[in-house]
Amino acid sequence: MITEAVHREGGRIAMQILHTGRYAFSEDSVAPSAIQAPINPFTPRELTDEDVERTIDDFARAAELARSAGYDGVEIMGSEGYLINQFIVSATNRREDRWGGSRENRTRFPLEIVRRVRERVGPDFIVVYRLSMLDLVPGGSTFDEVVQLAKAVEAAGATIINTGIGWHEARIPTIATSVPRGAYSWVTRKLMGEVSVPLVAVNRINTPAVAEEILADGHATWSPWPAPSWPTPTSSTRPRRAPEEINTCIGCNQACLDHTFSLKITSCLVNPRACHETELVLSPTRTRKNVAVVGAGPAGLACSVSAAERGHTVTLFDAADEIGGQLNMARRVPGKEEFDETLRYYRVQLDKHGVNVRLKTRVTAADLDGYDEIVLATGVSPRTPEIPGIDHPKVVSYVDVLRGEATVGDRVAIIGAGGIGFDVAEFLTDGGEKASLDPDEFFRQWGVNTDHTTPGGLTEPTRPAPPRTVHLLQRKTSKVGAGLGKTTGWIHRLELRHRGVEMVAGASYDRFDDQGLHLTVDGQSRVLDVDTVVVCAGQDPRRDLAAELTAAGRQAHLIGGADVAAELDAKRAIKQGTELAAAL
Ligand code: FAD
Ligand code: NAP
Ligand code: SF4
Repeated sequence: MITEAVHREGGRIAMQILHTGRYAFSEDSVAPSAIQAPINPFTPRELTDEDVERTIDDFARAAELARSAGYDGVEIMGSEGYLINQFIVSATNRREDRWGGSRENRTRFPLEIVRRVRERVGPDFIVVYRLSMLDLVPGGSTFDEVVQLAKAVEAAGATIINTGIGWHEARIPTIATSVPRGAYSWVTRKLMGEVSVPLVAVNRINTPAVAEEILADGHATWSPWPAPSWPTPTSSTRPRRAPEEINTCIGCNQACLDHTFSLKITSCLVNPRACHETELVLSPTRTRKNVAVVGAGPAGLACSVSAAERGHTVTLFDAADEIGGQLNMARRVPGKEEFDETLRYYRVQLDKHGVNVRLKTRVTAADLDGYDEIVLATGVSPRTPEIPGIDHPKVVSYVDVLRGEATVGDRVAIIGAGGIGFDVAEFLTDGGEKASLDPDEFFRQWGVNTDHTTPGGLTEPTRPAPPRTVHLLQRKTSKVGAGLGKTTGWIHRLELRHRGVEMVAGASYDRFDDQGLHLTVDGQSRVLDVDTVVVCAGQDPRRDLAAELTAAGRQAHLIGGADVAAELDAKRAIKQGTELAAAL
């Protein structure tokens, strides 16, 4: 049982009780009032007084069941715009009965839940209340209202108050990789001293160093539990993991939240074994093999480290002078600096598991004689579309731009609006303010009132003028950026809109010449007077080595982009590399 496993390791565990209210992806969703959420196609039904009473009782019953299942506590989810939050804010609660109207009435629902949960579980059970401290939506709570509620929650029986930041429908990033680390800890700090229970700081606290810094700066108090991502096991068999060995969360949301909201099993981009621990097993090998892995991008890195961990002898080759493959371009995009942590992790693991790393080595088939297994993780080659004038000196590839090898003018057209087209548009319109590293700049650009004197903590964004004019183009007629991550795509689209990037769908490229890029859109000819065209038109698998090996009658495994370039991302590359290593 989960609770026993946690207790065996010296941990304590609480179960979260969450009612999604109008965020439920269901025709039968319910809410304080029948007001549709902007992120949900369904309109909720208004709860009756009897429903409200029963729901409070359900919370208390769930807590009681958690206790009997061995949990040490429960967390009552009162933030992120879920049901409890929907009662508190008048924009989502238009009721005129004892659950709506005045602030006192609107906060009756959360306070009754805390009170009845405490009543049902007794005094020695942990009750965490997750309080929405910064709603980031119009009409949200002010700081004074947050303090009042926190005091009342404490009085009703909460043991700990956890910080909630932003409703899901908020249009300000709160947990994505473009949010500076620990940026929201000031919100928790503001509440310190107002209540006497411990407070938990949250959002983008992804390394022990960041957590220690927040504690040292007095932005949070220690809760009685160890921090979740880096537990300190009490068992003598499992030593504490050194910080440099931690496979750090990069805030991509690609395999956790994106999966959840696409009704897929949740996992993790950097750790594909997450939630698949019993299927993707790296057991020690019985037959040690001599394995050659060509390509030190994410697919090759994951395969090498996992194969070596299982006991194989692994040699990893790359033509470049550093590991990482395309991640070395990704990490140069403002807001994607966290990929540095993934590369640090792999460097440490390669060393730890004794992988023989041979950089600056372009491999040919002859170099691969004598290996028991050959893995080709050679990635992709950028696609060059057949457009008249594509060989013009002002047409460059995203590779040249991101590696700093191309001169880019002030007026730019980007051909291709996939993930890389968006990244290149962000790269070229960024003025060097480092919003993803500097919280003050981040809050200025996204319009967060850090004094929290306004409802929901919103204010007017202040954005610097972008250094270039950019047009982002695609041939498809669908919305530009529709294929981006489910939970983060809106951030990229909004960011580019803020920077004045023109997004054009349904473009057909006629030619490029000294006048600029000639297009046809909706049957109308158009010339974009640009001085640079950046091609981001997807990729094809790089398989020249595979062809050489096949000609020599040798077998090889293909992973990552070398296998399939379409819809390739680091998530698939790492997963495929790990799965192959488990099977070697
Ligand atoms: P690659 O990363 O392409 O690595 C292949 C390696 O093989 C290269 O290092 C190359 O030098 C080496 N090689 C090739 N041939 C030989 C040879 N003959 N001998 C020796 N070495 C050889 N994905 C995400 O999931 N999330 C993101 O946010 C994201 N952002 C991105 C942003 C940008 C700007 C770019 C360019 C990509 C981004 N990606 C992202 C995509 C991700 O980086 C790729 O999907 C991933 O790197 C593919 O991994 P791979 O191991 O298959 O190949
Ligand atoms: P992509 O997402 O497949 O986009 C390629 C773009 O090029 C599309 O907009 C496509 O749109 C266009 N295109 C394709 N063939 C073309 C042609 N012959 N002529 C002109 N345009 C053409 O690929 P990508 O942007 O290169 O990204 C590669 C991979 O990295 C993707 O799978 C992506 O998921 C991943 N990545 C992910 C992220 C992330 O944040 N998660 C960020 C960057 C990259 P039209 O066909 O409509 O023109
Ligand atoms: Fe973090 Fe993994 Fe989720 Fe990415 S997929 S945000 S690395 S937990």
